[in-house]
Amino acid sequence: MAQLSDDCFAFGGSLLGIDAARQMIFERVQPVDGIERVPLRRALGRTLAQDITAAIAVPGFDNSAVDGYAVRFDDLDPHGPTTLRCVDRVAAGHDPTTALTHGFAVRIFTGAALPAGADVVIMQEDCQRDGDFVIIRPGIKRHANTRQAGEDVPRGTQVLKAGRRLGPAELGLLAALGFAEVPVRRRLSIALLSTGDEVREPGQPLAAHQIYDANRFILAGLLEKLGVEVSDLGIVPDDPATLAAALRQAADSNDLIVTSGGVSTGEEDHVRAAIANHGSLYFWRLAIKPGRPVAMGQIGATPLAGLPGNPVAALLTFALVARPMIEALSGSEPHVARRFPAIADFAYRKKAGRREYVRVSVENASGLPRLRRYHKEGAGMLTSLTETDGLAELPEETTRLEAGADVAFMPYSELI
Ligand code: AMP
Ligand code: MG
Repeated sequence: MAQLSDDCFAFGGSLLGIDAARQMIFERVQPVDGIERVPLRRALGRTLAQDITAAIAVPGFDNSAVDGYAVRFDDLDPHGPTTLRCVDRVAAGHDPTTALTHGFAVRIFTGAALPAGADVVIMQEDCQRDGDFVIIRPGIKRHANTRQAGEDVPRGTQVLKAGRRLGPAELGLLAALGFAEVPVRRRLSIALLSTGDEVREPGQPLAAHQIYDANRFILAGLLEKLGVEVSDLGIVPDDPATLAAALRQAADSNDLIVTSGGVSTGEEDHVRAAIANHGSLYFWRLAIKPGRPVAMGQIGATPLAGLPGNPVAALLTFALVARPMIEALSGSEPHVARRFPAIADFAYRKKAGRREYVRVSVENASGLPRLRRYHKEGAGMLTSLTETDGLAELPEETTRLEAGADVAFMPYSELI
């Protein structure tokens, strides 16, 4: 008689490693066609479609970094105070009218262009004003408190590469370079659906044997953070024909389909069969926990990420599988979640051959952060996400972790 097992990871067949899955994703998923120019204010979160070269220098002119007095360095006595007559005043946004001649100072303000001849600015706090004169202490260096033309961006340099996702700082840089619009990839349209006869829409009545759909809200949030357009297809029952019809329709008008639930091996798990029958299945099990049942394939020509039903697993596999698919489709630079050194405050046993992620909170400590394991670990525990800071990552080869040992920490901000 076959041995019964309570380990839902025990049954046979080889599992694909997460690195191999990632490689497969970038090999099989190609960027969509289509580039558009959008106004800078509409470009947040979009993927740059061309390299960007600076047509102007930033800053465009030598200017003052402080409020003070612009002078000629060679006029200053290195050994004692120097007294200079103030002849002019130049504020930000105004053209310095005259060049600075020997023995004079110009009152200047932050961001104002240096008058020709001036090569150092004395902070107003560091000198003394006496009528028309300013008395300057010794000890300043040439070019102190000035900003040189092009010191941030020399003209002609490449500042951003195609594939960069535009965040607030990138938009600021593009604006400083004078771009009113930028070439970006077409926005992806992504179909999102939940599967399950038990799953109901929040706001609807709930029978005792039903649950509210949590995944679609997690996944829609994650998708929107990536700047894609979400086409929300709601909840699809565990019926092969209905599911197949929904997937085929989704494939016709979207760049990617993201589903949750129904990818395991239960009799009511129909997503995998639908992919196999109406497209092709690339993988359906990964060597990770949580999140082992996760499918990648295509329906027609449209790629599909079939994420597991348990919310924690859905979130993690979104990060590990769906997000790279989106990056491949949008031609954007792949995001690599950084891991930070930390100390485990817990002991842990695991099987070799799969990567495990443990939900943890960071304890305030001096030195390396200490990670406390969340006391509930089921992959369906939503509070295990809302009450923790990130994941401890235990590599494939690890089988035991002792309390006090080094461990890699991945904050949620790196992951999603
Ligand atoms: P499945 O992968 O379909 O077997 O689902 C695994 C577990 O996740 C089951 O307990 C489901 O009830 C639960 N589940 C599936 N879909 C959702 C969802 N959209 N929101 C919350 N829980 C879900
Ligand atoms: Mg299900």
